[in-house]
Amino acid sequence: MIDTRILEITAELAKAENIVIVPHKGPDGDAMGSTLGLMHFLRDKGHNATVIAPNDYPHFLKWLPGNEKVIIYESDKEKADALIAEAQIVFTLDFNNLSRCGSMQESLLASDAVFVMIDHHQEPSDYADYTYSDSKMSSTCEMVYKFIDKLRASKKITPEIATCLYTGIMTDTGSFRFSSTSSDTHKVIADLIDKGAENDQIHNNIYDTNSENKLQLLGTALQNLKVNKELRTAYISLSQEELNKHSFKKGDTEGFVNYGLSLDGIIFAVIFIEKENEDLIKMSFRSKGDFDVNKFARAHFEGGGHINAAGGKSDISLNDTIVKFNDILPQYSEQLKK
Ligand code: 5GP
Ligand code: MN
Repeated sequence: MIDTRILEITAELAKAENIVIVPHKGPDGDAMGSTLGLMHFLRDKGHNATVIAPNDYPHFLKWLPGNEKVIIYESDKEKADALIAEAQIVFTLDFNNLSRCGSMQESLLASDAVFVMIDHHQEPSDYADYTYSDSKMSSTCEMVYKFIDKLRASKKITPEIATCLYTGIMTDTGSFRFSSTSSDTHKVIADLIDKGAENDQIHNNIYDTNSENKLQLLGTALQNLKVNKELRTAYISLSQEELNKHSFKKGDTEGFVNYGLSLDGIIFAVIFIEKENEDLIKMSFRSKGDFDVNKFARAHFEGGGHINAAGGKSDISLNDTIVKFNDILPQYSEQLKK
């Protein structure tokens, strides 16, 4: 679709002075890398491009080039609303439904800008005027690279853009190890290194800037690990009390769910995190192979995502959520058992 309409998008871009770029709520490496990468590209082309994130994001993403220009909707609503109202184009990146922007959704719905979606989640909803959706892609950052290529502007990829896009591809592929990593992904990564992404520095900035509190929280999470060998499932839980004890900061639990999946023979891993201030339990689901956690999260926990990585939530207590989960699990025994 996007290929046949790229000339229309080029024409829209030529008319647009003000552009807003939006990642999903709870932005991760791919969300921030793709929005900032696109922001640099559009600013270099002469547009007033601004990234507005629905809420704040972890410290390990705050070194990204252009980070200081990001507006956080939750803490700067008036300014953000004015920018949205003035925008001729709104790019929405790394999500498939406006509800994933939280309270920012309302002012986006009120905007008469042209909407462009670039996203790799399954089942995109149809709010955008131009939808570039491909669930086979490793990451939205890989798609932004391809989008720039479709605009015949690959030569305009600067070291800043390359750094942002490299970061999101790296984080969304678990450092190039998930099955979504294609040979094409590696070709894109190779080109981004050629264009100035310093891969060793990026890995260091993302993975080797842990606090002691975070590592000790990981210790607690691993103590709480429960394994159901028969159904090849492992899960971890963290209560608000445990989070408080280790001075939890946004992003501190990133990647914890993957430890369950690192167990020999386990194909389904879950983490349950109590969020007292939001009055809910946030869940992350991960799987290996054909077990579809997107479907699982959609069916039982108001969530979604991809086949091997999804999220969801629950508004009952932490313990009740875990009981509910364990009650549901046997329904999937055919897929989960060896
Ligand atoms: P994470 O577990 O890292 O928060 O998210 C894993 C994947 O699932 C990401 O692609 C994320 O965008 C998606 N995801 C996380 N939470 C939700 C949710 O509540 N709803 C939907 N539709 N997708 C989610
Ligand atoms: Mn992504």
